[in-house]
Amino acid sequence: MKERLAIFGGTFDPVHMAHLRAALEAAEEIGLDKVLFMPCAQPPHPKHVMAAAADRLRMLELAVADNPSFVVCDLEARLGGTSYTVRTLEAMRRQHPKASLFFLIGADAFFHLHTWHEAHRLFDFADFVVMARPKSPRTDVLEYMQKQLDPNFAPAGDGWIRRNDGHGAKRVSSTLLSISSTDIRRRAAEGLALTYLVHPAVEDYINHMKLYHQPASPTAGAVGDAE
Ligand code: ATP
Ligand code: MG
Repeated sequence: MKERLAIFGGTFDPVHMAHLRAALEAAEEIGLDKVLFMPCAQPPHPKHVMAAAADRLRMLELAVADNPSFVVCDLEARLGGTSYTVRTLEAMRRQHPKASLFFLIGADAFFHLHTWHEAHRLFDFADFVVMARPKSPRTDVLEYMQKQLDPNFAPAGDGWIRRNDGHGAKRVSSTLLSISSTDIRRRAAEGLALTYLVHPAVEDYINHMKLYHQPASPTAGAVGDAE
């Protein structure tokens, strides 16, 4: 059987319980052998002052340590500079020529895919698993893909939306958890508890390293995410 390998990209500043839960439910629904959590070095449009890549990697390692199917991958962090998902997927495809590759993405981020670097090539390398997220647009995945990405995308009959038998996307339903890293950074800056929002080891790390204890910069809140 082909290995079914998923990449979960993001800033993970910091990783929180909704990231972990959504990845677990996606892995169950799609049938994944492994999820690689991949923090970006620098998103294409930075939206706030971020924790260093080394801290974001360390928090991810602490958060997934008790799950053998969850692994942290430092490919983008190690490369540095701006992280482009299309480059990452290309590299992963080269490294894992025999695996079925998936990319996990929250619905908020998915509906910006057409603005990502070389968006038309993203589906050359992997299938996109769109995870439900509270307050994300109610846009229909098929309509969005046909209008913004390629009119040739069509339902494949197995729940996937594909283009000419190639890669595609599928929406999965996961427990809606209204947790965001933005809210966690705000709470940390205000000295509030992060308990039950992040893994206990991540909470300890944030407190020990005094991460996010400065209030967010005035430029925070601009658009931007990994692409
Ligand atoms: P920020 O508030 O800094 O944007 P975030 O909570 O959105 O942080 P990211 O690192 O930006 O976390 O997200 C990485 C990926 O995880 C994205 O694809 C995003 O859509 C998804 N994601 C984040 N939070 C949730 C959530 N609560 N439920 C489902 N998916 C989520
Ligand atoms: Mg985000």
